[in-house]
Amino acid sequence: MKRMFPGNNYCPCGSQIKYKKCCQPKGIDYFLKKNGKIVREAQMTPERRAAFEAEKQRFFEEHSRKPTEEEESVMRYSEFEEIDAVIEKELIAMGASAETIYAFEKTGILITRENEHQFPPDELKRWSAAVQEYRLIQDLVKE
Ligand SMILES: [Zn+2]
Repeated sequence: MKRMFPGNNYCPCGSQIKYKKCCQPKGIDYFLKKNGKIVREAQMTPERRAAFEAEKQRFFEEHSRKPTEEEESVMRYSEFEEIDAVIEKELIAMGASAETIYAFEKTGILITRENEHQFPPDELKRWSAAVQEYRLIQDLVKE
């Protein structure tokens, strides 16, 4: 359901340095989801870890077996929405353009000149449609 972000690709943090030389050695894990979305694994807070362990325990009691790796990652990645909120805050801090933030909110993916080759054509289409839509809205507001 997800795979490690390739080390030879530009780091999703926007540093324009390869991931293996940027965030990867710092222990920040990025993953590619099936839909091409890049997600960052949230550092588990002690509370979050406790909740995760409790969830695993509940699963064990209910099914009399341990969750499979896939089921476990569903539990782990139930925080995607939270991660999106963090990325959005970082985008704003980075001074990303309003249309980039709009397109990110709309599509859930983040496409830059550096990473656009990693996305399938339909995702690129979805992205540019969102950017166009933003510009259209701006034009309407101006008039
Ligand atoms: Zn980085």
